Amino acid sequence: MTHNTNNSVSISVSDEESNENRIRARTRRKRKKPGHRTTSELPRYFLRLFLRYWIVLVFESTRIITKSAKLKKSPDSIPNKKNEGNLNRLDPTTKVISGVRQRCLKLLPPEELEHLDILERKDSSSPVKKLVYLTGTDSSSPVRVNGTTRFNLFTGNQTFAERENSFQVSETVSVHCGFFNENGGFRIKDEDKKFMQSCQVVVSTCAFGGGDNLYQPVGMSKASTQKVCYVAFWDDVTLATQEAEGHKIGENGYIGKWRIVVVKNLPFVDQRLNGKIPKMLSHRLFPEAKYSIWVDSKSQFRRDPLGVLDALLWRTNSVLAISEHGARSSVYDEAKAVVKKHKATPEEVEVQINQYRHDKLPEDKRFNGKKALCEASVIVMEHTPLTNLFMCLWFNEVVRYTSRDQLSFPYVFWRLKGLKKVNTFPVCTRKDLVNSMGHVRKAKPLVYLQGMNDAQKSGGGKSKSLTARRLVTRCFSSRPLHVCIVGSGPAGFYTADKAHEGARIDIIDRLPTPYGLVRSGVAPDHPETKIAINQFSRVAQHERCAFYGNVKLGSDLSLSELRDLYHVVVLAYGAETDKDLGIPGESLGGVFSAREFVWWYNGHPDYSSLKPDLKSSDKAVILGQGNVALDVARILLRPTTELASTDIATHALSALEESSIRKVYLVGRRGPVQAALTAKELREILGIKNLHIRIKETDLSVTPADEEEMKNSRARKRIYELLSKAAAAAGTFEGDCGQRELHFVFFRQPERFLESDESKGRVSGVNLEKTILESVGSGKQIAVGTGEFEDINCSMVLKAIGYQSVPINGLPFDHKKGIVPNVRGRVVSTEPGLYVCGWLKRGPVGIIATNLYCAEETVGSISQDIEEGGVGKSEKEGSKGLMQLLEKKEVKMVDFSGWEKIDAKEKQMGIDRNKPREKLVTWEDLLAAASADS
Ligand code: NAP
Repeated sequence: MTHNTNNSVSISVSDEESNENRIRARTRRKRKKPGHRTTSELPRYFLRLFLRYWIVLVFESTRIITKSAKLKKSPDSIPNKKNEGNLNRLDPTTKVISGVRQRCLKLLPPEELEHLDILERKDSSSPVKKLVYLTGTDSSSPVRVNGTTRFNLFTGNQTFAERENSFQVSETVSVHCGFFNENGGFRIKDEDKKFMQSCQVVVSTCAFGGGDNLYQPVGMSKASTQKVCYVAFWDDVTLATQEAEGHKIGENGYIGKWRIVVVKNLPFVDQRLNGKIPKMLSHRLFPEAKYSIWVDSKSQFRRDPLGVLDALLWRTNSVLAISEHGARSSVYDEAKAVVKKHKATPEEVEVQINQYRHDKLPEDKRFNGKKALCEASVIVMEHTPLTNLFMCLWFNEVVRYTSRDQLSFPYVFWRLKGLKKVNTFPVCTRKDLVNSMGHVRKAKPLVYLQGMNDAQKSGGGKSKSLTARRLVTRCFSSRPLHVCIVGSGPAGFYTADKAHEGARIDIIDRLPTPYGLVRSGVAPDHPETKIAINQFSRVAQHERCAFYGNVKLGSDLSLSELRDLYHVVVLAYGAETDKDLGIPGESLGGVFSAREFVWWYNGHPDYSSLKPDLKSSDKAVILGQGNVALDVARILLRPTTELASTDIATHALSALEESSIRKVYLVGRRGPVQAALTAKELREILGIKNLHIRIKETDLSVTPADEEEMKNSRARKRIYELLSKAAAAAGTFEGDCGQRELHFVFFRQPERFLESDESKGRVSGVNLEKTILESVGSGKQIAVGTGEFEDINCSMVLKAIGYQSVPINGLPFDHKKGIVPNVRGRVVSTEPGLYVCGWLKRGPVGIIATNLYCAEETVGSISQDIEEGGVGKSEKEGSKGLMQLLEKKEVKMVDFSGWEKIDAKEKQMGIDRNKPREKLVTWEDLLAAASADS
């Protein structure tokens, strides 16, 4: 990113802080030195120090004396509760700048504050003149129920394309910004609304779910008391909690200075998200207000609001003022911290950060000279079309991704190019604005309360998940849309999660177990990737959703039968076979596809009896250098003690324990710059203990075309650097008997598989042709054979050159690309109502989270077709018809409760072996467990 040096961005405060940091660093260095000085030098040294810092010493001692005197005088400021030690403090926060201690918030003197008026400003340079807030109705704009995206009637169903458009600045911008439908929740009484419409300057806060007390604002001028509204938003739970503690709302609607507005029908299950409505949408709640100051519930606002507007907006010519983050600077570091502190799931953070990386949000730690990362416990803003748009975009991001608003702030700030006048103030200024009190108690999630009857509230009643389910499904239409999704992997479940609110969804799978690739494809030593299962199982438990396993499309049911039963059929059955090399010897014993090997160690019932020979030699060759290749290499090379506590199938663990494979050759037809790996996975394998990495130095030399590729892709560059570093670290190691080795072999393509002389029909090696790269335009280079050949001897070859989807009868199929031809998920050349998602739609590339966007696109197409009347008009039988058909055909389907029995049994068996689960690996065992009496 190019740094914008626009002068209108206020930067002076941050510069001071960096000065302070420099002084601090210097002072610390000096402190260390006396130990090294001679005794005669010391008095002179201290004298010099005293002369330099005497002002600070005098200021500091006066401050300490005054502070302790104040504490003695004011009984209010003596902490009577542990968390109230900060309450009512008015002392300024200061810092040392050029040897002089100064105040962090430069307010006008008290007498001038009394005469401060609300500044009327017109910014004719703003690129946005008018904001149009999108609204819609239930039927005209299908809205998703809560799930990953959390879109609902309050937010409206913002598509990804609409999100993209919303960042494009023009004179008039139409944007989703909450309050989409009047039935969307966040209901406020008319008399409160009337009051809110009267506010020109507002200080607001909120406490939902009973969390946090209300702290009375202090430090305001008399003038501000007249001109500023203080509004606290509560829900019924906070109201009850506060009343129970004796804090009753007066007849005038106030408690102290705060006007309490009790909000009904909070739109989100997640209370953090409900809290974002008053925080980010103050321009919508206070349509007449010119300015607002947001203060979060764990802080006491302790300054004059007009003085704050003057200091942070008017004098700095800013429209938005927000604090720099106290600890970190980069959004990517913050993402790691969010996961580490369990503030959001790794998966949802990954989705958000992947999107930001994909959009090329720079890793820069500073924008316009300020930290990119902010901390939004206090937000000071002028309500202009541009700042209002910023807030809408920010709100939409926290709904779409995680509710950690510090993750989305830098992104929205970066994308909304027109917003320049932002005053990012240092942490010490934030400390001057508020007394930080910390949270008093945890807010109760909405789900427990709204769905509970009295019996449940008092301890009896149904489970939490049932309550949640009821909440999610309360608004089905009377004639539902019948949807069948074929395939219960990530693409299938994300489609179900995002599907139309009025839809009844049946997910069928040929296996008796759900979750597809997450269960059978993800490596056992990657449990964090399997977290997605929690979300998928919540989807499967919705009342609108059913899982039917052990039902095979193509043999148990035909596509036309399914289409007769359902308005919408979404094919999301992935890629269950492999690309072929088409070279001699491919069918020799010992040549497997990586998929077969993966299914074997993951206990897939089709491959549990694979029996790869891991004992005949110490060498295995893997063809291909993608992430699947890395997965299988890692499983072959990782110490088995590290695999024993994973959910790896026991037959695989035993075979690996006895394995004599010590040298794995990872063969790529192109070079280190083109390897299809990702950095995280590469780092992981390079980090395996006692694994020796071999890379030929000659393979690391790069051509100008390689340089160009790296220039265009940071990811490519990083892979190359990691490989170069690993090669350098390996040094001149000659090999050692028993040492595990991973050889990266570049610029070699398989020519034929060699047959063993001793053991006919079995592989004994691979013949490889050396290659060079040839540019084919648009920066791409392909491998071309040189006519030079060499062999690698081995007893096992795994082809990791890509998965492939399988066509079914009646389905158009592009055999070259291995996909169903489609336009944004709509299958072409068929009657409307047939869709695809996942690898079947776009080919076998991408991580699990990629399916989220893929599903969003397919669901978008379905919604559009329904709206336009092409789909969903006729009567369909849906599940009822499916059940009758399966019964007639004597197909013994396994429903979700059957899977839950399998799941319980596997987990139980896992306990005995100290594993998360011991997978049932045969069809017989799986079906028996599913039908066992519970
Ligand atoms: P991939 O990423 O497409 O890699 C395929 C590899 O096979 C490439 O090195 C490719 O080389 C090579 N190849 C293809 N055809 C070949 C041929 N005829 N002869 C020689 N080499 C050939 O596929 P994948 O490894 O199966 O992975 C599939 C997707 O799943 C990827 O998007 C991957 O990132 C993802 N995945 C992710 C994870 C993870 O995040 N941990 C784990 C597993 C899989 P060229 O580049 O020269 O074509």
